[in-house]
Amino acid sequence: MRIYNTMSREKEEFIPMTPGQASIYVCGPTVYNFIHVGNARPLCVFDTLRRYLTYTGINVLYVSNVTDIDDRLIAAANEQETTVKRLATRYEKEYLADADGLNVLRPTVMPRATEHMDEIIAMIGEIIDGGYGYVAANGDVYFRALKFEDYGKLSHLVLDELESSRELSTSLEGGLKEDGADFAVWKAAKPGEPAWESPWGTGRPGWHIECSAMAKKHLGATFDIHAGGQDLIFPHHENEIAQSECANHQTFARYWMHNGFLNIDDRKMSKSLGNFSTVRQVAEQIGYEPIRYFMLSAHYRSPLNFTMDILEQCKTSLERLYTCRENLAFAIDNAGDTGENLLAERAAEARRLFGERMDDDLNTADALAVLFDFVRDINTLAADSCKRVLLQTAETFDALCEVLGLLYNRKDTKVPNKVLKLVEERTEARTAKNWARADEIRDALDALGYTVEDTPAGPKVGRK
Ligand code: AMP
Ligand code: ZN
Repeated sequence: MRIYNTMSREKEEFIPMTPGQASIYVCGPTVYNFIHVGNARPLCVFDTLRRYLTYTGINVLYVSNVTDIDDRLIAAANEQETTVKRLATRYEKEYLADADGLNVLRPTVMPRATEHMDEIIAMIGEIIDGGYGYVAANGDVYFRALKFEDYGKLSHLVLDELESSRELSTSLEGGLKEDGADFAVWKAAKPGEPAWESPWGTGRPGWHIECSAMAKKHLGATFDIHAGGQDLIFPHHENEIAQSECANHQTFARYWMHNGFLNIDDRKMSKSLGNFSTVRQVAEQIGYEPIRYFMLSAHYRSPLNFTMDILEQCKTSLERLYTCRENLAFAIDNAGDTGENLLAERAAEARRLFGERMDDDLNTADALAVLFDFVRDINTLAADSCKRVLLQTAETFDALCEVLGLLYNRKDTKVPNKVLKLVEERTEARTAKNWARADEIRDALDALGYTVEDTPAGPKVGRK
């Protein structure tokens, strides 16, 4: 697979650090409100990357954090007269409900900043010891950005540009900072704010340090892919690199992937501009699945313009996929042992082309086009095909849809929640290498009339 690496600004062959394994870190949301449609873009896109790598036989360790302490959370909690903890807990739940609705697989690990204070404090200590950090008069700790020689290597801003860039903070924070480019890794506690003990007094972490510390804890000092929206390239990811590479003395992430903006009237959808619709609002109108489809209908690096009309078109396209799958099921039920074989060839070709498109920097738009050519073939050839060929065709069709995370609302595959819960529990048990518990759950599923098969794309539930 070739991936466009923001660092080199080129498509590069993706070669995981450990053959057969891929470690991915995706910056997650700050849970102070419902997520908006723009936030759903990285969610759906990088979930599809994960699914595709899994489909190709790679074991993916997928870490995506939740920012549960920062300025926006503190401000929102004050406004709503609640605590940061309560607010974060509530919106983390809402975020996960939306992610589930979008058929986004739960991360292998979903670390929360507030649960990694030891790691964060340890990393700040290393940064200070290396001479890259200093404690300001008020107890804030700042990172000496320009002391890190490679500062700017991801955003490709040369330092002169960087210094004159509007984006680079030049504020000296009332004399607390040595240089305008320096950024906070620790913020001294203000009255009424949540705070943690540290060697520099009570306070809380800056935003960037949490990702550096949590990526290290869960993926190691060097890992394969770091991803997020384009707006994170600078300063967030640039600062993560500076912190991690100064503390760990080794390359942080090997590949950097950034999705383009989801726009509304050609402007980035964002909370601060107020031009946003929440995923929940849109899903209530049209359902979650058209949103996911929409995110995959363009290449992830291109800008994508949001309108309800386009979502309606996505819904119609999805209906074509559902109808095709129903036709296929009908044909399977009615097929005999003899018939045409042509569809088998078309299925193989669809699989090959689909892989080719996805291998080209996750080109989901072209992969969808391949899927729709396949739909046309199925619709014209299914009735004359033999059962064996139809079953093979269905397997291919389902596998491709599963990579895209689509067609998850099929009625005939509705599995009761109770069964899904057990399957989830079994996956957890397996992750924890608790084989005895995993076997016990398999027996319980068996008693309920369900089978579970471990496929590269995750556990597959079937009726006995
Ligand atoms: P935030 O909660 O603002 O940190 O955003 C969470 C994720 O959504 C980050 O990866 C952002 O880059 C991404 N994001 C935010 N707004 C947009 C947008 N309009 N289009 C695409 N991605 C976005
Ligand atoms: Zn991050």
